[in-house]
Parts: sequence; structure tokens; C-alpha cells
Amino acid sequence: MTILQQQLFQQLRSKTLFSKAQNYALAYLDDVQQQRVFPSEQTLASLSVFDEALPNETMDPDTILDILHQVGSKATVAQNAGRYFGFVNGGALPITLAVSWLSSVWDQNAALYVMSPIAAKLEQVCETWLVQLLGLPQHCVAGFVSGTSTATFCGLAAARHKQLQKHNWNVNIQGLFGAPKLRLILGKQTHGTVVKAAALLGIGQQNIEWVDCDDQGRMHVDSLPELDESCIVVLQASNVNSGAFDDFSSICGKAKQGGAWVHIDGAFGLWAAASSRFSNLCKGIELADSWSVDAHKTLNTPYDCGVILCQDAEALTEALQQKGSYIQHSEQRDSSVYTPEMSRRARGVELWSALKYLGKTGIASLVEQLHDHAQYFAHKLRQHSFNVLNEVVFNQVIICCDTNNLTQITLKNIQASGECWCGGSVWFDRHVIRISVCSWHTTSVDIDRTIAVFVQARDHAISSVTQSDE
Ligand SMILES: *Cc1c(COP(=O)(O)O)cnc(C)c1O
Repeated sequence: MTILQQQLFQQLRSKTLFSKAQNYALAYLDDVQQQRVFPSEQTLASLSVFDEALPNETMDPDTILDILHQVGSKATVAQNAGRYFGFVNGGALPITLAVSWLSSVWDQNAALYVMSPIAAKLEQVCETWLVQLLGLPQHCVAGFVSGTSTATFCGLAAARHKQLQKHNWNVNIQGLFGAPKLRLILGKQTHGTVVKAAALLGIGQQNIEWVDCDDQGRMHVDSLPELDESCIVVLQASNVNSGAFDDFSSICGKAKQGGAWVHIDGAFGLWAAASSRFSNLCKGIELADSWSVDAHKTLNTPYDCGVILCQDAEALTEALQQKGSYIQHSEQRDSSVYTPEMSRRARGVELWSALKYLGKTGIASLVEQLHDHAQYFAHKLRQHSFNVLNEVVFNQVIICCDTNNLTQITLKNIQASGECWCGGSVWFDRHVIRISVCSWHTTSVDIDRTIAVFVQARDHAISSVTQSDE
């Protein structure tokens, strides 16, 4: 046995490392509730302790945990608490954190059934449950990927494969050079990850036809171009700023007639389909061909948990095909046929635990809770004379002050407060502050406290603007 092995066996046997990590993690869960939502300048400066040369020798592993907790924990963003409203970042349900610890120890590779029967089983269960929960066609298959960026990439890969096949072109064999032209139909409010996925797939910006949107960011149905078998249409189940949903029934109807493929980017909004309160918004989603959705957003699982759903199993698995003499497929679910990666962690385990814990009614009430809190936010902000620019149909609120300048300074003050965090955006040429209520943690008390910060941030912004005018 090498000296290194002796050390490693000793660490595994004594388990003090794991208890220490557990103690630190449990302390973090308490501390993060009081911690600044975004670290102070001083904390950020302390990160320089990590700027050191690559170590020569092995070191005491306890010290590694010590540094990580003492410096690292404070330099986190308090996502597992109630006043983080940035991007569309969810919290993590306690059961999913616990399951993530246990399954980390399992250290499973979820690529093939023979690598992890439990991962394959739970992903198969998640597939069945998700299809049911979201009301998608029964024959849909699911791939478990890192997030919606990758899920959209997979959906568009399947679409590319299928649409070219309709033109007697096998993209796996013939490639893209000289292939029949594809047309990608996107709303002007499409998420940037869709354009990125398209570019990775050789569908360049010149192949995109941009469709005008209404003031909520929904694609104008009447502005759609003629759709045919060369078209891939991407719709949104929730715009990343306004939370608006496209008119799926009308657009899918037109797409079906022409033979176009429809992908829905449902990163956080597709979960609305779990609640009958949002049935109007989700009407027609089942008519699409593929869907991307993130469990790490609205469903509040830990990160790195996205899903591609596709009603055309053949198109998806052909697009993501991989061969190798050593690969051992089985009669069971081999998850890597639905994903671009081969080796990957068993992210389906956490997803399964969230679905199992919440159940249908729990998921519905989580989604409704996020929506109700977003509405409460908007109501309070209007009372304090902020301009609310969107219809709060889901969990997103976009607001602004009376001038762009004031909005930007107010946002800077909010971000510097450490009391809460939200980001900015540009909405139809106006600078805005965007609020995403995406964590189970947020209570109305958190919102009241956040509103007070907003008001103070704007007061300070007004006085700094007046001062600089004088
Ligand atoms: C978050 C988001 C994405 C990207 O998802 P990732 O999980 O970060 O890759 C795409 N589209 C929308 C609408 C989003 O909100």
C-alpha cells in the first residue's frame, strides 16, 4: 500500500472529516438565515487567501475544510434564505439537500444501468411522473441534464435531426455542409441560451427569423412567418423578465399544420402546469415536440438539475447517439441515450426526492406560493410609487423608478445593502429592476423587509441625484 493510500484509508475509517463537514454544513444552514445576502467588500477581499501556488505536498484535510468554511461560507450568496431575488434562482428543499448528501456518498455514474441501477430506476420514475404532472403526451421521454441551456441544446438537436430527415438528409452521416436550409423562428424576447444552443448546432444567426412580441414579451401570433418542414419554433413558458407565457395553442396549431417542430423553453415556467390555477397560461403546451425545464429553479432542488422532455424518442436518441465497443447497454433504462454527456452525477435522485416529498398538491402549492408572493411584492411596490411594468402572471416582477438614472442608482444601493439582492435588466429600452420570487424560503416578512430597503435605496438615490445637480 502506498503512503497516500494509507492516509486515504485512515480518513475513510475515522470519518472525522465527514463529521466536521457535517458540523460546518449545519452551522451554515443556521448562519445563512442571518448572513448578508451578498458578501461585504471585506469578505470578498478575504478571498485572496485562495491565491496561492499549487501545493507541492499533500496537506492535512481538516485544514481544507476549515479554510473553506471560515472564508468560503461567508463569501457565498445567501440563496438558501428568504431575500434573494436575483436571476431565477431557487432555494433548495431540505429533503433535496439531505438526499444530495447521501447520494454524493454513493458517488454514482448515471450514464448506464450497469453503472447504477438505482440512478436508472429513479430517473425512469421521474420521467413517468414529470410527463403526468406536466400533462405531456404519454410517450414522452426525458433526459436529465445540467440545466435548461443543455436541455434546449438537446431539444434543438432532436429538431434539427428530424427536420433534416424530412428532407431526406441524415445529419449524423451527411453533416451540415450542403444540408437543406433550416429556419429557426424565435420571438424577439427569446432567452440568450436558445441562440447559443442554435449556434452550437450550426444554426447561425442568419438562419433565425425574429418575430415581434407584445409589451409582455409574448410572440405576436399574427407576425409569425409561413411555417413549413424546415422550421423550428421556440416558445417560452415564462419570459425571463416578465414571466409571460406564449400562446401555445395558436402557435402549435399553425406549426403542426406546416410540419414545423416546436420547442418550449420552460426553464422555470413549465412548472405552472402543475397547478390548475395556471391552466390558462399553460394551455396547449402538450402540443409541442420538446420542452426544457429546470428543477433547480421553481422546484427548488440543488443546482445542476435540468430536464429535456421530448415526444419523439427516436429523434432525440438519434440526435444524441453514441457508439463504443465497450459500452454495455441493457434492457433497462440507459440514461445516457437521452443526454449529450456520458459520465454524469445521478441528479435524478434529488429530483425524485422533491417530487416524492411534495407530491402533486405540494408542487402546486409551491408554485402558487411563489406567485402569490410576487403579487404581494408588486402590490406593495405600487403602494410605494414604484412603476410595475409587467402583468404579474407568475413569479416575476419588473419595476422602475421615474428615470433610468434613478433606477440604476437605486439598484446599486439595493445590491450594496446586503439586506436583499436582485438584478437589473433592460425592458423595451428602459432600465429596470427585476425581482424573481423563486425560493420556498421567502415569506411576507422577507418581502416587507425588502420593500423597506427598496424605498430607502430610492430615497438615497434621489438625494444623491439632487446633490450632484446642485
Ligand atoms: C434560466 C433560464 C435558462 C437557462 O437555464 P440554465 O439552467 O441556467 O442553463 C433558459 N431560459 C430561461 C427562460 C431561463 O429562465
